[in-house]
Amino acid sequence: MTTVATTLREAATRLLHTPALARVATAAYARTTAMPVEREGHRCVPGSVTAVTAVAPWLRRLTLHVPGFQGYAVLGPDEYVGLVMPRAGAELPDLSSITGPNPRPVIGAMPEEVRPDVRWYTVREWRPDTCELDVEVVLHPPGEVDEGPGATWVRTARPGDPVAVQTGSASYPARTGDEARLVAGDETAYPAIAGILEGARGSGTALHVFLEVGQEGVLPALPEPERGSLTVVVRGDRRPGEALLESVRKADLRGLDHGWVSGEQELAATVRRHLVSDRGLAKTSVYFCAYWILGRPRG
Ligand SMILES: Cc1cc2nc3c(=O)[nH]c(=O)nc-3n(C[C@H](O)[C@H](O)[C@H](O)COP(=O)(O)OP(=O)(O)OC[C@H]3O[C@@H](n4cnc5c(N)ncnc54)[C@H](O)[C@@H]3O)c2cc1C
Repeated sequence: MTTVATTLREAATRLLHTPALARVATAAYARTTAMPVEREGHRCVPGSVTAVTAVAPWLRRLTLHVPGFQGYAVLGPDEYVGLVMPRAGAELPDLSSITGPNPRPVIGAMPEEVRPDVRWYTVREWRPDTCELDVEVVLHPPGEVDEGPGATWVRTARPGDPVAVQTGSASYPARTGDEARLVAGDETAYPAIAGILEGARGSGTALHVFLEVGQEGVLPALPEPERGSLTVVVRGDRRPGEALLESVRKADLRGLDHGWVSGEQELAATVRRHLVSDRGLAKTSVYFCAYWILGRPRG
């Protein structure tokens, strides 16, 4: 039976997703942060896993074949996609009515037994000739039981498994001529940071890269930037972001034009606050994103 609360919740959800309200929210948000690039034409299409590769102790690469991505192009080195993962024992539902950047309104309206899960991952490589894309996913530390649907699906994924892929966007600015940029994050930002470092070759901009990892040796080594610095800090038992913030605070970041910070919610928020409040960067010159949230699902 549909309750009044359910009806009200559904009406509020519909209202929040109206184009007019979304435009107002986006305009307000754009005053507080650097914004992602807008993608023209979104899609959410079925695909399948073709390979699963252990890249490093905490990193697993999934190669996905996505024929419906014909003509797709990444917009930047931190491009992300949504993986729409079928529930255990359920098939992928029809997702063809999804045409915008957010699949949740359509997926949220599906009955719970068949409703797939959605989680977001960085495109590590896109090969247009074969319509294959790679994502690299952090496995939670061994023994840690706090695992969401994304981690569970990735840990058990095998070649042939179905998955749908939702187009996303990118946020790392393509402009040239900046003196220096800061790029900081934790393991979940490793694929984006690796892509940013690869794309920055020959740009002349100094990159100050900070990566926080749980333990040493759990991820592949990042290359040193041509100009700038690379600092890897170990989190150990500390709260995500504490060690990273400490290290950023101490760094010589003269000439900084832009900051990009992604990882656990508090990590992203505190490093961004430091760049704006203590280093004087404009809010619109700092992109920050909560890639995950300690102790609860990000969804
Ligand atoms: C734009 C974007 C790009 C991203 N790119 C990548 C990427 O390339 N690779 C990647 O691995 N992740 C990436 N992430 C992060 C990933 O989407 C989140 O970690 C997501 O929460 C995983 O979903 P889940 O179902 O495993 O966990 P959730 O259901 O979100 O959470 C369940 C529990 O697991 C915990 N948890 C979630 N993630 C982690 C973690 N990394 N370490 C420890 N505990 C965790 C939560 O605190 C919670 O207690 C990206 C996120 C965004 C928004």
